[in-house]
Amino acid sequence: MDCAARKLYAAVAILALLLSPGCLGFHSRQQQPAELKEFKETVIAMDTLVTIALYVPSEEKAHKVFSEVRNELQRLEGILSAHQPGSDVIAISAAAGKEPVKVSPETLHVVQTALQYAHITQGAFDITVAPVLRLYNFDTNNPVRPSVRELERTLPLVDWRKVHVDEAQRTVFLSAEGMELDLGGVAKGYITDAAAEILLKNGVEFGSVNAGGDIRLLGPKPDGNPWRVGIKDPVNPGANNWFAIVEVRGGALVTSGDYERAFVEDGVRWHHIIDPASGLPASGASSVTVLAPTAEIADILSTALFVLGPEKGLELVESLPETEALIWARGEVFWSSGLIPQEGRGDVFYFTVKDK
Ligand code: ADP
Ligand code: MG
Repeated sequence: MDCAARKLYAAVAILALLLSPGCLGFHSRQQQPAELKEFKETVIAMDTLVTIALYVPSEEKAHKVFSEVRNELQRLEGILSAHQPGSDVIAISAAAGKEPVKVSPETLHVVQTALQYAHITQGAFDITVAPVLRLYNFDTNNPVRPSVRELERTLPLVDWRKVHVDEAQRTVFLSAEGMELDLGGVAKGYITDAAAEILLKNGVEFGSVNAGGDIRLLGPKPDGNPWRVGIKDPVNPGANNWFAIVEVRGGALVTSGDYERAFVEDGVRWHHIIDPASGLPASGASSVTVLAPTAEIADILSTALFVLGPEKGLELVESLPETEALIWARGEVFWSSGLIPQEGRGDVFYFTVKDK
């Protein structure tokens, strides 16, 4: 997909995901503090539109925060992007099979977190899928999928156990030549958290960050009400076509869908989340939403649960504190025990999150 198309897809995801206050016709229980005004800004980072909304007393304050966010996201993109020359990710891939690469603390953190979750998910989340992903083209105008032979040849390069981190030396090493690092399943979540951290550091109490569907909320809305986030119907993912709405009071909510970068051939949806065991698109689910304290973890898990499917996926989620999941798979909807379905909210699922 070219850059413009990718941005467009991100824009659609954003518009669809974060519901504007009151759009479902509910009334506020409390008033928003009078001195607070809403300001919004969109920044492009990691090929994604990142929309930051914050509630502060003055425009000056908002501009200061937005400018810090922009600088920070640009800095992180320079480190974590697989497309920007000079990034850690490119350097690590270029040195595969040759030598360890000294990286920034941020890269070290993201790679270590990704490896920890590769372990927890038994390899369903694997940051070395890039060589296999490269065999596909998900552009519907020119769809390409690999032959069995190509897959067989490439699959040995996909193995998170061959990513070696030396914490003391701050290095990352891919031990086989031809391996590549792909942080596409976690970096967007990480930068979403990084933007939220800038808001918090500036004393902002109310606000949200939405990076193409990776959402992090500082807390409830300024009027004290929860945010309502719509989850797209994966079968018919048009604008405002939700299959579920989730009320959230903070933390992160991330959705992965098989409709995002995909083409359909032979009755199969070929999309960009890969089962590292087979090299084929993960068939465990069509839409996975994960709620977790950080967008980084929610991003990782939303990708991993796609591969794991609803049964194993929910078993994992139940074992993790403060983590919930909502999964659409095989035409059925599954959810974890902390999501409470509410009756009488029309023909969409409507969930609140259990207080822990
Ligand atoms: P999106 O970017 O559409 O929100 P995801 O967060 O699920 O979706 O990330 C998909 C990206 O993650 C792919 O484009 C690829 O870079 C990477 N990826 C694909 N399969 C896996 C996997 N099994 N484990 C880790 N990363 C993956
Ligand atoms: Mg993800």
